[in-house]
Amino acid sequence: MHPLRPPIPWQPGFAALGPAFYTELRPTPLPEPYWIAASADVARSLGLDPHWLASDEALQALTGNVPLPGSRPLASVYSGHQFGVWAGQLGDGRAILLGETASGQEVQLKGAGRTPYSRMGDGRAVLRSSIREFLCSEAMHGLGIPSTRALSVTGSPAPVQREEIETAAVVARVAPSFIRFGHFEHFAARRQIDELRRLADYVIERYYPECRTADAQAGNAYAHLLRAVGERTACLLAQWQAVGFCHGVMNTDNMSILGLTIDYGPFQFLDAFDPRHICNHSDSQGRYAFDQQPNVAYWNLFCLGQALLPLIGSEEQALAALEPYRSRFPQEYLGRMRAKLGLADAQEGDAALLDRLLRLLAGGRVDWTIFWRRLSHYVADGALEPVRDLFAERDAFDQWMLSYSERLAQEVAGLAGDLMLKTNPKFVLRNHLGELAIRRAKLLDFGGVDTLLKLLASPFDEHPGQDDYAGFPPDWASRIEISCSS
Ligand code: AMP
Ligand code: MG
Repeated sequence: MHPLRPPIPWQPGFAALGPAFYTELRPTPLPEPYWIAASADVARSLGLDPHWLASDEALQALTGNVPLPGSRPLASVYSGHQFGVWAGQLGDGRAILLGETASGQEVQLKGAGRTPYSRMGDGRAVLRSSIREFLCSEAMHGLGIPSTRALSVTGSPAPVQREEIETAAVVARVAPSFIRFGHFEHFAARRQIDELRRLADYVIERYYPECRTADAQAGNAYAHLLRAVGERTACLLAQWQAVGFCHGVMNTDNMSILGLTIDYGPFQFLDAFDPRHICNHSDSQGRYAFDQQPNVAYWNLFCLGQALLPLIGSEEQALAALEPYRSRFPQEYLGRMRAKLGLADAQEGDAALLDRLLRLLAGGRVDWTIFWRRLSHYVADGALEPVRDLFAERDAFDQWMLSYSERLAQEVAGLAGDLMLKTNPKFVLRNHLGELAIRRAKLLDFGGVDTLLKLLASPFDEHPGQDDYAGFPPDWASRIEISCSS
């Protein structure tokens, strides 16, 4: 048999917190499962034998049809604010945690059936949203952006009712922890302070040990935790804004305590640059518009701060712990944008130069990814026309270019272009690319998913012959409607 059988040595992990935090239950099987895709990279990081991953046993296990030896599956309970409103208890309504591997990775099956937290939901996820989550998890990783990962996505002909009848799929996703801000809000709202403290202590011990160390010198480990989560969140948001990633549903239950991108739903990578872009068709007020994301993250951190208040003990300290986000985000963001411009060191006028550029890009609705990639090639190889052609207002662009060239001249010659080509991706998971792969997958042709997985795993490489995946979106792309329905 395969050398890794049982394939995964488990450790207690989240389950050690005790039954107040979850319900143990098994996934509900799905008929006639089939493979859609798997990430060899994630499999390797879990120490899974590739032969096992190719087996029928793996297919059944990762669809939730047979238990993995030693795993004690569970669904966790959390609460949260959705669209700015307290929603009360939510929880893993369709994700089931299989456990934590000895190497410290949790494995969760999303779409694995109903749980006590499903509310009105059916516990399932459909093919299209599962392919989007699978691909985007791996795309984010390829971009160097913190994210939950995806080991596999499997499908089943089982019908699932959404706006129309679709079919079921399961994503096996992987992260050091799936704990959300909403887990803390849950116990705080119920005044279960012992559980709240146990959760915070668990998170500090496992993921933020430096907060405990800091505590010895300076007082409050829980305030340090809030500060540290804020800083990780600031780094995450800076990366989202720089790459043009719109999450779409930044509810507090979709905010990772580890600062990971989590819960891929109606997300979108920007096509044309519009700072006000709303990717989620269910978001009629634009609460989660692209340019609102950094503020929403702060609002969400504020909710986390409120939840941690009984542990921190002083409002003043909690507020002080939220402050670093407000300085760290702009600093990280400007740092990322400087790198996109090929500017290795910081200078006084950089923010103003960037601001002028963003206005130009927004005014002309210039394609975000293509602009940055072409600018990189201009700096690396001198081809100006492809960049200039993107702008209708040539004079304004030329003026900006003059300032940019002067600024660039102060950098070490030859390094800027290299930096830019490693910072500005050629390939991102645009909506229409996902949509085309999904259409093929519905006909049981998974070649589109495979190709995207390959390209998105190394999005800064040229991948000769694959320029179709790096081109402008077709007209119909702007009519794709992605909502919370998944
Ligand atoms: P989301 O908007 O996907 O982050 O989900 C919000 C909440 O609804 C979470 O508690 C999910 O577990 C739950 N949920 C979403 N879709 C379903 C579904 N089809 N069945 C059960 N629960 C769901
Ligand atoms: Mg969610």
